Amino acid sequence: MAEIIPPRTIALIDQRLQVPPPPAVAWIRANPMATNGLLQDARGRPLRDLRISVTDRCNFRCSYCMPKEVFDKDYPYLPQRSLLSFEEITRIARQCVAHGVRKIRLTGGEPLLRKDIEVLIEQLAALRTPDGTTVDLTLTTNGALLKHKAKVLKAAGLQRLTVSLDGLDDTVFRTMNDVDFPVAKVLEGIEAARAAGLGPIKVNMVVKRGTNDHEVIPMARHFKGSGVVLRFIEYMDVGTTNGWRMGDVVPSADLLSRLQTEFPLVALAPTTAGETAQRWGHADGSGQHDVHAGEVGFISSVTQAFCSDCNRARLSTEGQLYLCLFANQGHDLRSILRSGGSDADLASAIGHIWAARNDRYSELRAAQPAQGSASGPRRVEMSYIGG
Ligand code: SAM
Ligand code: SF4
Ligand code: SF4
Repeated sequence: MAEIIPPRTIALIDQRLQVPPPPAVAWIRANPMATNGLLQDARGRPLRDLRISVTDRCNFRCSYCMPKEVFDKDYPYLPQRSLLSFEEITRIARQCVAHGVRKIRLTGGEPLLRKDIEVLIEQLAALRTPDGTTVDLTLTTNGALLKHKAKVLKAAGLQRLTVSLDGLDDTVFRTMNDVDFPVAKVLEGIEAARAAGLGPIKVNMVVKRGTNDHEVIPMARHFKGSGVVLRFIEYMDVGTTNGWRMGDVVPSADLLSRLQTEFPLVALAPTTAGETAQRWGHADGSGQHDVHAGEVGFISSVTQAFCSDCNRARLSTEGQLYLCLFANQGHDLRSILRSGGSDADLASAIGHIWAARNDRYSELRAAQPAQGSASGPRRVEMSYIGG
């Protein structure tokens, strides 16, 4: 295969508004790559999971993601014309599915802020894999608008969802979202989602030492036996604005020990290849997993790298394909779409981009320049490419 790949644009947060370079449609046409569902990257990893950011805006200002001091009223959010339309998103998603994607997650920013998001859900729910099955379609939300949206999302074809919730204590929660949003409304949103038949529901809790780690056990108590799967996420060094320090990370192994002082837990096998969470089930008196009591998960992106089977790609709000959460550049698919590229062109471009992928940031973290250091490249923000 020729070494050149389709055009890249640098996606530094303050360079996003530059006009992308002209598309290399001519090159793509000279090097077609048809879809056969067997696409692999340079490390033999398939493409299975596509995360689509539908907005770079949010109604929360979690300090680990969109700190208020940076994401203020003067922050240059993307203008409407830069955003991919629902039709453009669906065209890209269709080619990714033809290349092997089996799971699509809508994210952001806050995805429920995107106007008429249910229309996009309808379009994505209609996609079929080469063997004719539906795609596992889900969404990650902060839950603020969920109470009013749950039924509409379900009717549009959403199957399940994940709600981010960093604590049950109202004061802690209001501090973490930094817009004084009450925890009760998120809990109402989770109930509405359950009542609408969106399930299984997962709850993601980012744990930051000294801020909300004392909420871990109350959260586990609250969700045990509820049917909701609670997952603890290690606070990550994504982007450049959250002031991450290793000392703020509570390793999953420590959390597991803390939880085991109150709950007997047994390790569970992964359900799918490339699963991000290590699963532990609440045990019954005989040490077996009690399915009614449920399970918890640990996403240990900092202390236990899981790059070796990472099968995830991320599509930014303006159509840049990112191959790693810690990437500092994306691959511009929008320019292919907007310069008359065909579906076959798009499929070839995605194929070449994925085939050349060699990312494994978490495995190399210790050897990388620290977040925000002058010697390191600026990484893209989580709110821009989604979690
Ligand atoms: N706004 C939605 C939400 O909060 O669920 C979707 C977008 S948010 C970027 C997706 C996920 O990323 C959330 O579960 C959030 O907690 C997680 N996240 C954001 N910044 C993070 C960080 N620095 N470390 C770990 N997880 C983070
Ligand atoms: Fe918004 Fe989600 Fe980021 Fe919090 S984690 S600021 S809710 S995008
Ligand atoms: Fe995947 Fe990059 Fe995270 Fe490794 S660091 S698991 S390659 S997204």
